[in-house]
Amino acid sequence: STTARKSLKIGIIPADGIGKEVIPAAKAAIEALGSDIPQPEFIDLLAGWETFTKTGVALPQETIDVLRNECDCALFGSVSSPSKKVVGYSSPIVALRKELDLYANIRPVFSVSPEAGQKSTVDLVVVRENTECLYVKQEQQIQTENGKEARATRLITERASKRIGQIAFEIANARSRKHLTIIHKSNVLSITDGLFRETVRKVPSLSADGKYDGVTVMEQLVDSAVYRLFREPEIFDVMVAPNLYGDILSDAAAALVGSLGLVPSINAGDNFVMGEPVHGSAPDIVGKGISNPLASIRSAALMLRHLGYTKGADRLDVAVDQVVREATTLTPDLNGKSTTQEVLTAVLARL
Ligand code: ATP
Ligand code: MG
Repeated sequence: STTARKSLKIGIIPADGIGKEVIPAAKAAIEALGSDIPQPEFIDLLAGWETFTKTGVALPQETIDVLRNECDCALFGSVSSPSKKVVGYSSPIVALRKELDLYANIRPVFSVSPEAGQKSTVDLVVVRENTECLYVKQEQQIQTENGKEARATRLITERASKRIGQIAFEIANARSRKHLTIIHKSNVLSITDGLFRETVRKVPSLSADGKYDGVTVMEQLVDSAVYRLFREPEIFDVMVAPNLYGDILSDAAAALVGSLGLVPSINAGDNFVMGEPVHGSAPDIVGKGISNPLASIRSAALMLRHLGYTKGADRLDVAVDQVVREATTLTPDLNGKSTTQEVLTAVLARL
């Protein structure tokens, strides 16, 4: 809520890779909002692979404690993970989502200026369950007579499916098209995905006041959803999905709008919100000064909007949209020639 906050305490966790380039840009954009939000107070916090290599811990307890006890919200960059399993290391972002119970990952994907020849406009929101599915990371490998055998547990619960379903209906209901697509693969995974799909479907019947009566619901198997996303993205409005499908679908949707460097997200729970660009640590461009800061600035906007600071959020979104539409100051991922700093400067000028 926005009630009488004098200052807004924001945890800043750039973590690894281009997170260290784009999160400072988002911070600068927030600072430029002046009195449209309470005075921001930034608290720098550690997490990630680099933190692990220096301290042996990927997610220091202090980071969790400060987020829980002192911060109103946070901005997270990205983590670079080793390609092979390293003993003692596991992704701090997955752990943070669990620790703070940030059960909903909300990822709006839209095209600002459809390019010439692009036949359809993308304007959708991927609502990704954020705490379970294969991300419970219960994997094991055993040796059998016939060689190695590896297994992973995929957890789907009624509780988590219901609360992500409620968020998805809430988001769909607030949009003009009011259309929700439930993504699953219950033709193969009839028990796990069957539970997800049934539970989400039941959400409207749980509210006595019929508040979701205006929402139309469609279902789509994940494979055909990807196909249709590329053929006719305009049919999708809000998509709700278990964790892994949501992850893959949102990267795919990002390709449709030009770059991962444009797509923001928030990790939201009942008591906390953390903005995070959808992209990863982008090892191929790190240190070159050309990472696109717009996804992070949009993530800051989403975070502020979630907290009720609509005016500040609108200003950030309008400034980013202008920069994208004008297309004179863009980073190479959007076929531009500008640096991270130049794009930030363009956003600040429009603020
Ligand atoms: P990770 O394992 O950390 O996710 P990755 O190799 O999958 O790393 P991503 O960060 O997911 O890399 O990015 C995928 C591709 O998109 C890379 O080529 C990367 O350079 C590009 N990309 C991602 N984010 C941005 C950005 N903000 N600006 C410019 N290019 C980006
Ligand atoms: Mg990636």
